Amino acid sequence: MRVLVVEDEVKMAGLLRRGLQEEGYAVDVAATGGEAEWAAVENPYDAIVLDVMLPDVDGFTVCRRLRVAGCWAPILMLTARDAVSDRVDGLDAGADDYMTKPFAFTELLARLRSLMRRGSSERPAVLEAGDLTLDPAARRVRRGDVDIELTAREFALLEYFLRHQGEVLSRSRILEHVWDFAFDGDSNVVDVYVRYLREKVDRPFGCRSLETVRGAGYRLRPGAG
Ligand code: CA
Repeated sequence: MRVLVVEDEVKMAGLLRRGLQEEGYAVDVAATGGEAEWAAVENPYDAIVLDVMLPDVDGFTVCRRLRVAGCWAPILMLTARDAVSDRVDGLDAGADDYMTKPFAFTELLARLRSLMRRGSSERPAVLEAGDLTLDPAARRVRRGDVDIELTAREFALLEYFLRHQGEVLSRSRILEHVWDFAFDGDSNVVDVYVRYLREKVDRPFGCRSLETVRGAGYRLRPGAG
């Protein structure tokens, strides 16, 4: 398995490189966003560890450009701040998972293994449920031919539903994946955002794709119009 580490801080990059090599990974290090884009398009990485803070362009931009360039390697983003906005920006940019610095190396390994198991093949460029489509790279949502404007959070929530269509998703699971791990607010926020989504992706089109499953959570009906 080959991993690209994108980090400009020499000490942190060295730590990641050595740690991953000890686990048997082949590791390349890129110190700038530009280098990372070049390396990731040239080489078939099984995973990319991407720091948000880079000297040239930020990690979100790198992530977005890689997806646009057709690179679908799983991306684990490292953020310095435990900020909800970072997490949402990253999801919108097409990252697969997050870790906040400082982190335990064993946890990073566990997350990487899980991402690699999932692989890049099952990541369609455009997610679909019936005539509802979401393009993570272009940040575009459409119902049929109609473009739908969503906020960053609504977009992240819809993307999560689309990646798990047909599954009943509990409020706590949705919170954990779409909101920050540290979010300890009321899970009613999920209900509020599901309502916002319905108002935008369902109601104007006479659809009922986002179902409430009583006592359990929500479900996006697969192939639902
Ligand atoms: Ca950095």
